[in-house]
Amino acid sequence: MESAQVIVAGAGPVGTVAAVCLARQGIEVILLEALPTWAKDLRASTWHPPTLEMMAELGVADRMVKHGLICPVYQYRDRRSPEVFSFDLTELSDTTEFPYRLQYEQFKFTQHLCELLADEPHASLHFSHEVIDVDQNADGVTVVAEHQDGTEFFRADYVIGAEGADSIVRRKLKIGFEGFTYPERFVTLSTTYPVERHFDGLSNVNYIADPAAWVLLLRTPDYWRVLVPAPKDASDEYLLSDEFKDHVLGDVTGTQETIASEHRVIYRIHQRVARNYRVGRVLLAGDAAHLNNPLGGFGMNSGIHDAWNLCDKLDQILNQGADISLLDLYEKQRQTVTRDFIQTQSMKNKQRMEQDDEEWLHQDREEIRRICSDDKLRRKFLLDQALFTSLADAEQITL
Ligand SMILES: Cc1cc2nc3c(=O)[nH]c(=O)nc-3n(C[C@H](O)[C@H](O)[C@H](O)COP(=O)(O)OP(=O)(O)OC[C@H]3O[C@@H](n4cnc5c(N)ncnc54)[C@H](O)[C@@H]3O)c2cc1C
Repeated sequence: MESAQVIVAGAGPVGTVAAVCLARQGIEVILLEALPTWAKDLRASTWHPPTLEMMAELGVADRMVKHGLICPVYQYRDRRSPEVFSFDLTELSDTTEFPYRLQYEQFKFTQHLCELLADEPHASLHFSHEVIDVDQNADGVTVVAEHQDGTEFFRADYVIGAEGADSIVRRKLKIGFEGFTYPERFVTLSTTYPVERHFDGLSNVNYIADPAAWVLLLRTPDYWRVLVPAPKDASDEYLLSDEFKDHVLGDVTGTQETIASEHRVIYRIHQRVARNYRVGRVLLAGDAAHLNNPLGGFGMNSGIHDAWNLCDKLDQILNQGADISLLDLYEKQRQTVTRDFIQTQSMKNKQRMEQDDEEWLHQDREEIRRICSDDKLRRKFLLDQALFTSLADAEQITL
């Protein structure tokens, strides 16, 4: 039976970061991924400054910045109003080496980290190994994985479940995943068409409110990505049709031209937090532990912050003799900031996009106007949205 100090389930952004961190700390790690290669899905692309600082420590930030799109400014717009609220992260140049959001697709990132792991003497990466069971006793954890030739058993001191929303580790441990699923689905379309041509001063990241049809317009190195809510009761077939694509892209740009799209994907979106991030020697991180809507770009970033926090604690336990109870602090720190900031703020971001209550809108606009025009408030807003504050808050939490 192959064994290691830590087994990580899932080679997404969170699992690969955890595996590279652990291996660099001299901790023997096995990474098990169900797919035959890294997942090539079009989900996260937004990287916030503190996550880029972590990636700089791992030695991968330069490559990300070279191949990504640097976006210092993000904007809040409303289709019912000409007013544009712009937030410029260069104001944080005194705080961070990365005063911008970087747009860099998660599949390019996980590919690079999987390639790095191949050269890490302390790491072993197994593709096409789907974790199907975990079982622990006082001494360690046994993980069962299925592959084309049958099942294989692995043993470790600790296991990190980083296998995403449907985490088998979470389900096997019967950990509740409390929260809700939005009734509507979201659709993303991508296009190489110069969408910016149809707006005044459009930045690369734009939240455009409208109760009938809000839009997140996001530019990545290769495409404009357009995220919209799906009309209620629309079939998947319609949502993936040229008719819907023409409707959305025509509506966003206001042009009669036929605009080609490169990708069309439907997503279900949830707001959920696992009741426990730790059960004995088994830990949850990333989407396995929490889910939120993508408005704000918090999911992957906060998942990587989980991995960063957890790997530091595993280093203290495995390399420096700290007690295993330190893992309770991981749960307390990361679960608290997920509930207090990530969940609350992502739900507020969605509410801002779809709100039709005049009084709510009036107050919200007043608040953003006040934030924009006040140096202290604006700086706090930039630090909060970039997740600097939630990281600092987590550090203040003790057992
Ligand atoms: C449209 C959209 C846009 C988004 N944009 C952003 C953004 O810009 N910024 C941001 O921060 N977040 C964003 N998110 C959220 C982000 O994509 C997720 O939070 C992130 O992918 C979570 O990473 P993860 O590693 O925890 O899980 P995943 O990315 O889901 O990776 C899990 C991995 O585990 C593997 N796996 C699954 N089951 C098993 C098993 N049983 N055994 C072994 N392996 C298994 C999977 O194949 C996969 O490779 C977005 C989400 C959506 C839907």
